[in-house]
Amino acid sequence: MKILQLFSYISTLLATSQVPDLHIPNQIHLHLPDLHIPNQIHFLRPLSGAGLQDIPGLSCSSWRLAVETNNIIGWETVPEECANYVGHYMLGQQYRDDSKVVADQALLHTNSINLAGDGKEIWVFDVDETTLSNLPYYATHGFGTTPYNSTAFNEWVEEGKAPALPESLALYKNLLSLGIKIVFLTGRLEDQRNATAANLKNVGYHTWEKLILKDSSYSGKTAVAYKSSERKKLEEDGYRIIGNMGDQWSDLLGTNTGNRTFKLPDPMYYIS
Ligand SMILES: [Mg+2]
Repeated sequence: MKILQLFSYISTLLATSQVPDLHIPNQIHLHLPDLHIPNQIHFLRPLSGAGLQDIPGLSCSSWRLAVETNNIIGWETVPEECANYVGHYMLGQQYRDDSKVVADQALLHTNSINLAGDGKEIWVFDVDETTLSNLPYYATHGFGTTPYNSTAFNEWVEEGKAPALPESLALYKNLLSLGIKIVFLTGRLEDQRNATAANLKNVGYHTWEKLILKDSSYSGKTAVAYKSSERKKLEEDGYRIIGNMGDQWSDLLGTNTGNRTFKLPDPMYYIS
């Protein structure tokens, strides 16, 4: 009898195309099994270390990878919970090691090119967190966990006390010895020229072909637009960009990006 009733119900349903109220309870959860696979070299779930203890800061390392690869964009501040992580990274050896890899690859790239030596081969360097390091400033401003404060940062710039990023300074010297000319292309404003030039010279960047700062015609424009436009002018003037190095993707994206680009680490701030 029950089978007949069910058959009748299904027949009616198909005939009327009505969707029955299935009363699915709101209790559906994916149940993922615990993957305690011993002796794995490549852990599927690297949420714990060799002794299965938690690794503090793992999510911050994922965040850093995502911002360095430009997968997370448009962010305004470092997540509060990553302040310690970013601080330790920036002040520790890893930041220096990561920077050295970039500088080494940049030199390797340059050495692989048959340079013409005609005085038109240039290297484009960004300034902040590329040739100069503002770590003394950011160390006292939460390593990027607080919103950008233009007043405080500009005061720091005017002091002209930013140290060189040592790996970039070493690269700079190598590039000069190869006959490549240096162009600094920075988002710092034109009225910061004197302080910036003095700072660069004081820490060892003693010569350059051009120091390009952002003038009022670029007010309101993105760094990508500004830097692309200035690189285009350089190429129109006959320069050939052998390499282009910066800590922001906006230093490297856009047009006229040069023979190769090199991204230095910077998990402290984002400039579009
Ligand atoms: Mg920069």
